[in-house]
Amino acid sequence: MKIAVYCGSRSGNEPLYAEKARELGEFFGSNGIEVVFGGGHVGLMGIVADAALSKGGRVYGVIPQDLVDRELAHPNLTELHVVKDMHERKAKMADLSDGFVALPGGIGTLEEIFEAWTWGQLGFHRKPCALYNVEGFYDPLLDMVKTMVASGFVQQEYLDMVVQADDPGRLVDRFQHYIHPREKWV
Ligand code: AMP
Repeated sequence: MKIAVYCGSRSGNEPLYAEKARELGEFFGSNGIEVVFGGGHVGLMGIVADAALSKGGRVYGVIPQDLVDRELAHPNLTELHVVKDMHERKAKMADLSDGFVALPGGIGTLEEIFEAWTWGQLGFHRKPCALYNVEGFYDPLLDMVKTMVASGFVQQEYLDMVVQADDPGRLVDRFQHYIHPREKWV
């Protein structure tokens, strides 16, 4: 299984974020789960990649040329795909991956997981999406989506389709048993 990991290009200011990112990367590396990520060496991204590599895992980076030029690419990956722009990057990451997980991060992380979630809702793919909810980091976001459900903009099943986990074993188990909801417009 190949899992796309979206996460902060910074590490956040709680040591727990880095610890949980390392734990997840090590678990993936030790269990033959391949990592697809944004290809950077910075923040939680670099931590997940290094952790998976340290356990003998395979890690694929997908990074736009512009970020390579700014020396943000991770130097020791299994493969680094250098792409033209962010659109190409997201399409490539989605293509390569069997599922998507967002660790804590910033607006880039949100944008990426929301795109994967939206495409899943529309039936453009049938792969699981997850929020890795370290210390309730994503609770306010989930509350926002619950408000969308209550307001009639989102159906409950498209909230329910998002896997919530904060430990690696549970995440992978939920991915392995994932059942995709019916498409939004059938
Ligand atoms: P953010 O959450 O705003 O820190 O953005 C992180 C997400 O955007 C990652 O999952 C990456 O795919 C992408 N990204 C942002 N900054 C970088 C960077 N310096 N190098 C590689 N990817 C990045």
